[in-house]
Amino acid sequence: MTRGSIVRLYVLAVAAAFGVLPIRAVRGQELTVDTTGAGALIDEALNRSEVMQNLQYLSDVIGPRLTGSAAARRANDWTLERFKAYGLDARLEPWQFGGTWTRGPMRVRMTAPRSHDVSAASWAWAPGTGGATVTGPVVRIDATTPDSFAVHRGRVKQAWVMTRAPSLVWNNDGPPMTAADSERQRDVFRTVFTPFRDADSVTRARRQQFANDLPYLLRRAGALGILVDGSKEHALLNMSGSPNRILPLPQVVITHEDYALFDRLLQAGAPPRLAVSISNTITRDSVPQWNTVAEIPGSERPGQVVIVGAHLDSWDLGTGTTDNGTGAMCTLEAARIIARSGVRPKRSIRFVLFTGEEQGLIGSRKYAEAHAGEADSIQAVIVLDNGTGAISGQALQGRTDLEGLWRAVLAPVARLGADSVVNRNKTGTDHLSFLPYGVPGFNFNQLERGYGHTHHSQSDTYDMAVASDLMQASAVMAVSAYELANLPGLIPRGERSAPTPVEAVKVSDSLIVTGRGSH
Ligand SMILES: [Zn+2]
Repeated sequence: MTRGSIVRLYVLAVAAAFGVLPIRAVRGQELTVDTTGAGALIDEALNRSEVMQNLQYLSDVIGPRLTGSAAARRANDWTLERFKAYGLDARLEPWQFGGTWTRGPMRVRMTAPRSHDVSAASWAWAPGTGGATVTGPVVRIDATTPDSFAVHRGRVKQAWVMTRAPSLVWNNDGPPMTAADSERQRDVFRTVFTPFRDADSVTRARRQQFANDLPYLLRRAGALGILVDGSKEHALLNMSGSPNRILPLPQVVITHEDYALFDRLLQAGAPPRLAVSISNTITRDSVPQWNTVAEIPGSERPGQVVIVGAHLDSWDLGTGTTDNGTGAMCTLEAARIIARSGVRPKRSIRFVLFTGEEQGLIGSRKYAEAHAGEADSIQAVIVLDNGTGAISGQALQGRTDLEGLWRAVLAPVARLGADSVVNRNKTGTDHLSFLPYGVPGFNFNQLERGYGHTHHSQSDTYDMAVASDLMQASAVMAVSAYELANLPGLIPRGERSAPTPVEAVKVSDSLIVTGRGSH
């Protein structure tokens, strides 16, 4: 490090101490971060926090908040009341969802080669067996491509179908992974999560169409249902589903332990048989859902806003604590912190608790669409949705031009551990819904804290929340929002693109059965 740069750093440190950090990252003075007020916000966050009591109420009293459910609406009403209690203007903004799905009682029992109760859950927006017990053998096929499916098609009639090999779930209580093991695991992840990544666009479209059609092809071939590998350790299950992809036959996620057991029994020539009864309810008519929206008006430019957001909806195997009760309650807490600390942001700060996230970011996509007209007045959208872990820093979402800005924004909270700025494209949450409108959108990086275990599983419960991490995350969100609201200028817009319309997954016409029994 040269003498010049040491002096420059020293000047920066002194400037930071006096609350003005000049950033000439992009255009002159427009992105100079004023850190005045950060101290008061951090003090409020760390010394008078309410994040855990709110999270406990949301998790334990309101419970899981499946979009379309009464609990989701109850959470909207409760958060509306909370924001108002903290002195904010607040409202519920409706958006049109789809049909609802309600989980009913179910039982899965292995009856051969021995009796065994299988820990399982119905996939969401999948039909049940109408409460009847449906019995049949388990078969495993390779349904990764249309060709491989054609080979196995004849074997699925009146059977419960495993469509792929068991995932590679490492036993962390055993010996550590070798390099070969990690390579094997990476291969499996690639096959499962980015199956078409390296294919050309035509092949990708063909494979995607096949993936959309597979449940219909299986039903047509007489399958009883699809078995899904929970793919987690220690009998943890996973969950997903959407009204944009209503399944034509039952789909059941089972523990990885049982999925791997079935596979071994098949190889040992002792095919398992299952007796399954499931009672789910699917409604067709589209229903309204709501985003909870609250605002602290700006003192100088109230027409420009910083959006702080997180999804309020959750899956229903646990109580949706770390996905995403933690993000939602940190968003609520950031509002409380700013309101209670007495600082006045120059631009408005808007807090949005989205619903419909788990079904495809639907609530935030509808929100961004409904507010497209004000996209150029949205300074930025900052979202929290990676579990209970403390914020470790920011992911730039391709905006490398904003690295200096984020380093300056996080400077006051670097001592709390939020000190990294990396260029990563974060997927799978609500900031994505704003990017097509040119709005700078970011999803904070967080410590992992076993999120792989709690994510969508039965162990997503309040006892998994880490208080000190969530107090830190609330502080980082409040400080970031306040500093972004006080920037002299607007952050340069991102590249615009056509937003993906919210619509049902396309299934090949030849597979759609019209009239009785159609889906
Ligand atoms: Zn989430």
